[in-house]
Amino acid sequence: MIYIGPAGIPLEAKGKGIIEGVRAVAKLGLNAMEVQFVRGVRMSPEQAEEVRKVSEAEGVKLSVHAPYYINFCSVKEKIVDKSLERLQRAVDIAGILGADVVTFHAGFYGELGSKEAIEAVVRNLEKVEFPRGVKAGIETMGRQKQFGTLDEVLAVAEITGHLPVLDFAHVHARCNGCLRKTGDFLALLRRVEEKLGADVVRNIHTHFTGVEYSNGNERSHLVLEEGDLKFEPLAKAFVEMGIRPTVICESPILEKDALKMLEIAKKVGLAQTQELR
Ligand SMILES: [Zn+2]
Repeated sequence: MIYIGPAGIPLEAKGKGIIEGVRAVAKLGLNAMEVQFVRGVRMSPEQAEEVRKVSEAEGVKLSVHAPYYINFCSVKEKIVDKSLERLQRAVDIAGILGADVVTFHAGFYGELGSKEAIEAVVRNLEKVEFPRGVKAGIETMGRQKQFGTLDEVLAVAEITGHLPVLDFAHVHARCNGCLRKTGDFLALLRRVEEKLGADVVRNIHTHFTGVEYSNGNERSHLVLEEGDLKFEPLAKAFVEMGIRPTVICESPILEKDALKMLEIAKKVGLAQTQELR
């Protein structure tokens, strides 16, 4: 079983709005979508209610991506306050949408060391009020200056009870291409299991795309075929561990690569067609 779909409205429904986006996802045979609030939460509670109805009718599992402009590691109070406001608004709308995870980028180390940054993220995350059924998804990040190594993300999740979001392209970029074989993915997923338990890893929320990187930093997203990060070894790791992941495709050709990934998932036995929807 796999939930899989694009980060945002599929390209073929571009400009038609979120409701048509959800319908397009279902029509393509996909069953997940991450609603993108990356440049601000531009959705009213009424609209969110409508989107929820359509997503339920179409069998599309929703998640949310919070605005990029969040920095919980800042030493400036004003920046942290704005960050709290933005995440809170994304979380509130997620509750109405019926989205279970609100993915967010925790911030930049700035003057803080890793340990202090973990404390800052925990402290600020605990100020946000979450509706029932909604959790924050702390994303693994792809640049050295950004908070979000796997260990940092797992530490925050362990303390707060929120969830890790595994962005495999970011992990791969940050370690200069260390995710190659099924065993590499298994090792990573087992670390999540050890730290947060079997339930968390079984329902893990993830991002996937081809990625260009250098010196441990993400440069840009690539079409799957063009990158050295491959989906098949990951899909095999999911099968081996009995994981039922959500995989959000962030490739430049969104739904086309999501469909390719679904094909791979089927091939390795992760997604039986009848299990989709
Ligand atoms: Zn992200």
